[in-house]
This record gives sequence, C-alpha cells and structure tokens, in this order.
Amino acid sequence: MRQVDHIGIVGAGVMGVGIAYQAAVQGYDVRLFDVSDSALEKAIQQIASLVKRQIEKERLTHADGQAALTRIQTVKSLDELASCDFIIEAIVEDIGAKQSLFRKLDAISPENVVLATNTSAKSITEIASAASRPERVIGMHFFNPVHRMKLVEVVRGLQTTDWVVEQTVKLGREMGKETVRIQERPGFATSRISALVGNEAFYMLMEGVGSPEDIDQAVKLGLNYPMGPFELGDLVGWDTRLKVLQYLHETLGEKFRPCPLLVQYVKSGRLGRKTGQGVYRYD
Ligand code: NAD
Repeated sequence: MRQVDHIGIVGAGVMGVGIAYQAAVQGYDVRLFDVSDSALEKAIQQIASLVKRQIEKERLTHADGQAALTRIQTVKSLDELASCDFIIEAIVEDIGAKQSLFRKLDAISPENVVLATNTSAKSITEIASAASRPERVIGMHFFNPVHRMKLVEVVRGLQTTDWVVEQTVKLGREMGKETVRIQERPGFATSRISALVGNEAFYMLMEGVGSPEDIDQAVKLGLNYPMGPFELGDLVGWDTRLKVLQYLHETLGEKFRPCPLLVQYVKSGRLGRKTGQGVYRYD
C-alpha cells in the first residue's frame, strides 16, 4: 500500500514542472507552489502541452492524461502544502534560498513528512541544518527531462535516517524511476561528472577545437553519449550549470573553475532552451 498520496512540490520551473507531471501520471495528487504567479501559470500550460504530446505519441491514453491534469493543483501559499505526505523542493540552486524554505517547510509540516531537495550538487546536510528535524531531509535528485530520464539519485545527508532513505527510494520507484543511493559529496555521482564535461566542452569551444555541432557529434558518436555536452547544457540551463560549477570549484578545487566563455554566455542571457538561445538557437 502506498504511504504517500499527496506530494507537495515547491518551485515550478524546469524541474518542478517535470516532477509534477511525473507524479500526477503515476497517480499522485500534486500541489505545486511557486513564489511567482506567472511561473505557476506557465507550469500548467507546459504540463498540459506535455500531456498532449505524450498522448499524440501514444505513450499515454487520453483518459490517463486528462486524469493526470486533474490531479495537479497550483497553490498560492506555502501553507497549503501542510497536509502533503511528502514534499519535494525544486527552487533555484541557492543555499540561502533553500535553507530559508526548509526552515518554513519544517515548521508547517508534520514530523513524519519527508522533506526532499532536488538540488543538483549542494550539501544536503547544510540545507537540513535549517530544519529543527534535519533527520527527515534528503536529496531526491531527478534528471531533465524528468518524464524520460530513468534515474533518481537518493542522497543521504549526515543526519538523514534510514527510514527517510527507504521512503524516498520507495517513492522514486513508485514514480517509475530507478534509484541509486549516494552518500553526500559535492555534485553527488552525476553532476560532478556532467559539470566537468560541459565545462571542458566550453574550453574546447573557446580554443577553437571545433564547432558546437562537431563537438556534440564527436561526443555522441565517438563516446556513445546520448546527448552532446552543448545540447545537454542548453537543456539544463547554463545558469544552473554555472552555479553547480562555482560550488564544485569552491568545494572540490581547481579542475572545476568555470570556463570564462561559459560565464560570458550566462552574463549575456544565453541560458539555453528556456531563454530561446544558448549555444544553439530555439526559434
Ligand atoms: P528554474 O530556474 O527553472 O526554476 C526555479 C523556480 O523556483 C522558479 O520558477 C522560481 O520562481 C522558483 N522559486 C525561487 N525561489 C523560490 C522560493 N523561495 N519558493 C518557491 N519558489 C521559488 O530552476 P530548475 O532548473 O527547475 O532547477 C531547480 C532545482 O533543481 C535546482 O536546485 C537545480 O540545481 C536542480 N536541478 C536542475 C536540473 C536541470 O536540468 N535544470 C536537473 C536536476 C536538478
């Protein structure tokens, strides 16, 4: 029997939208909160168009798609997540913002509710330190696009209890994902590698090693990666990528120093698909 029925999601950006869709399609009731009303409106449109595309591709029946949409409710106040059985945070990758949110989530939710963060790289222990019950805080790291990527990385902080790990693994599986259990280190098992590869690709672009298309093609066909580093970074968002790199540079050292060209792209607003242009254009 499922112990979780209602999932609260905080942050309705790229990842919040994907997690909300995946949870609703797997039969969970979802409450989605964001500080931005326009992000919530956009999220509902994006989820509806994802449902439509999945129906067209015959990956979802019309009835299941409609049912999933009715399970997602947007809410205008964090307090409305107080009755959720499990809460997943997917807000901006900023430790101060996450700590402040976890302080509030800890105050509004019953103590048996797991508070999970979708952080790409930050310390679960540090986020958890803002909560009066840090033992119920855990990393639940989904990948983009959530409906297609099979993995959820379950990341344990210093004080996370076994019960919280088991609940998170169970939910990850019930949401249709494979899970791995990872001990907390900056960047976990995935972002540490993808940040390095994306950064190196930018250094190669800066040095004139090849065009973005040729570097992506080389990595896909020569190394058997499903996506090239520029395609993937455009999908993730170079602002998010840069934040991860800066954190890994601080915590793990010189090899993660962000490439100056990548920094310039972020400064210019070429963040990837979400802004219509990153390394490639999306018209
Ligand atoms: P995003 O910028 O697309 O969305 C973040 C959303 O959070 C925005 O809508 C913003 O309004 C909202 N927000 C900011 N502060 C808030 C607060 N205090 N309360 C409620 N809402 C708030 O970011 P994203 O790409 O969806 O990333 C979210 C998290 O997931 C980050 O921690 C990121 O590192 C992680 N992550 C991202 C990816 C990816 O591919 N983009 C993959 C895995 C994990």
